[in-house]
Amino acid sequence: MKHPSVPEILAPAGSLEKLKVAVLYGAHAVYVGGQKFGLRTAADNFTLDELKAGLDFAHERGVKVYVVLNSFLHDKDLFELPEFVKYLEEIKTDAVIVSDLGVVKTVREYSQIPIHISTQASTLNVHSAKLWKKAGASRIVLGREVSVKEAGKIKREAQIEIEMFIHGSMCMAYSGHCVISNFTQGRDSNRGGCAHSCRFEYSLEDLSTLEKKKAYFMSSKDLEGLRLLPLFIEEGIDSLKIEGRMKSHLYAGTMSKVYSEALGFYSEHHHFLSDDLLRWEEELKRVSHRDYTQASLVEKAGAQSIFNERENSTEGQWRMVGSVVEANPKAGIVVEVRNAFNKGDELEILPFKGPNISLVASEIQDLSRKEILRTKPTTLVRLPYVEGVEKMHLIRHRISP
Ligand code: SF4
Repeated sequence: MKHPSVPEILAPAGSLEKLKVAVLYGAHAVYVGGQKFGLRTAADNFTLDELKAGLDFAHERGVKVYVVLNSFLHDKDLFELPEFVKYLEEIKTDAVIVSDLGVVKTVREYSQIPIHISTQASTLNVHSAKLWKKAGASRIVLGREVSVKEAGKIKREAQIEIEMFIHGSMCMAYSGHCVISNFTQGRDSNRGGCAHSCRFEYSLEDLSTLEKKKAYFMSSKDLEGLRLLPLFIEEGIDSLKIEGRMKSHLYAGTMSKVYSEALGFYSEHHHFLSDDLLRWEEELKRVSHRDYTQASLVEKAGAQSIFNERENSTEGQWRMVGSVVEANPKAGIVVEVRNAFNKGDELEILPFKGPNISLVASEIQDLSRKEILRTKPTTLVRLPYVEGVEKMHLIRHRISP
């Protein structure tokens, strides 16, 4: 649980398992999507039972759960919403994240669940924040175009909780107000179907020279605001959001751990140690990412924030190979394998807190203790026990230098 005067770290959870990972690795709150009404139709969205299980798991550990209802809905989509909203209240959902006024009205009419206004609403100023507050919102997730300083002003003048993105993929449009996917692929970006058309390679022609070149000029670098934590605290920002419900378990765990650890250290000591900063930054680079930018958190984002490269150009990429299902001296480390690894591979275990644990797969056994040389995804294997390893720890393996 976080100290009340520092922002919460709000992590994405695209599935029940990712929710558990984010919670165990230190997130103070998580956001999830149900089967409908969210913006990530391709995520493993939660069934009604999974929502209840996720809320129970998080609440038992003092962590809040927000449910996204941030799709823009047509009248024909709204009729099923009241029942869903009543269910969310019954299972004690901590807040819903909404962008559409019709949804705000429905949530208010059928429940008392706190309403957070989604970044999709592109709130950028005090007047707009005050209007949302009047409409019943308790928090606003500001547009990514607002700086931390501007956000502090909006918070002070509108007297409302403020949430800002601190990490993750960026949208090249005003936080989702883009219909390229609708026009080019028949997929509605604002109702969950964004095809990431901004990440494609486009051809440019200079009309004066007729010179042609290919470029990814609409693709943004990824947001990374680790060094700005003191500024977020100074400006009284309530919640720091990590983008990425579609991203991996390793992403959910690493981000939750790094940001909550860094925030905890700064809140206690009121400064960072440069060695720690470098270590945290190194961890952030170990998950798949585009180059990082602070986008508009301090200065307005410009050409320096364009990621003019093919996707997945990452430095030092690591891949999750599995998670621990049991660990003790007798059983060894029983691993549920996600991606194959070989005997002799150097692995790294991410504990929920503290330094990573190195482990060489010097011996791999199946559950009947027969030795194997190469693991297969979805199987259970046994590795020699190493002190400090616990159930649910993630295991990774370096896949590029
Ligand atoms: S295609 Fe790109 S700019 Fe458009 S909504 Fe999707 S992420 Fe945003």
